[in-house]
Amino acid sequence: MTADAQARLDAIAQDLRDHLPCSSEPCATCTHLVPGTGSPTADVVILGEAPGAAEDASGVPFVGTAGKLLDRLLEEAGLVRAEIFITNVVKARPPGNRDPRADEVAHHWPWLQAQLDVLEAKLIVPLGRHALGRFAPKTDRISEVHGRVLERDGLRLFPLYHPAAALHNPSLRETLAADARALGAALRAGA
Ligand code: URA
Repeated sequence: MTADAQARLDAIAQDLRDHLPCSSEPCATCTHLVPGTGSPTADVVILGEAPGAAEDASGVPFVGTAGKLLDRLLEEAGLVRAEIFITNVVKARPPGNRDPRADEVAHHWPWLQAQLDVLEAKLIVPLGRHALGRFAPKTDRISEVHGRVLERDGLRLFPLYHPAAALHNPSLRETLAADARALGAALRAGA
């Protein structure tokens, strides 16, 4: 079962790479596609918006400055990277780190959907309003729904502020740390 799930995740990553060359801008301009990494039996999927410069250079999600903060938050939650799955809504770095356009999100959606179908994780943790907006209606504002379980369209979400937001606004760091501890508590309680 695990080997099968790993094989399916590997096949999704390969399918993503094999679709190049592609005329969608982030695919055409990126250095590396960033499919995602982690355990095929993950209970938790951490979902960012799109790779940044460090991820584009390495092909691995959340390895830059925001990734370092994410690692500390995972520690607060009692989670380790090897046991969870980390990916992004868009699998290629938009030029200049601009927000991905709706057509680019739609272009990458089938690969994310396929990953989520394989993983069947207990919780999806969208980081920031953009990732949250892919799963929840606009009325779910990150400032109001962060740090707790939300059920939307049959999925269980646990939205957190994006770590990059806390890099720009240090007052969010304690909120993020408290939310990460709440995530750990929710998982231990069987969320
Ligand atoms: N920000 C994201 O949303 N994803 C990454 O992989 C890195 C930074």
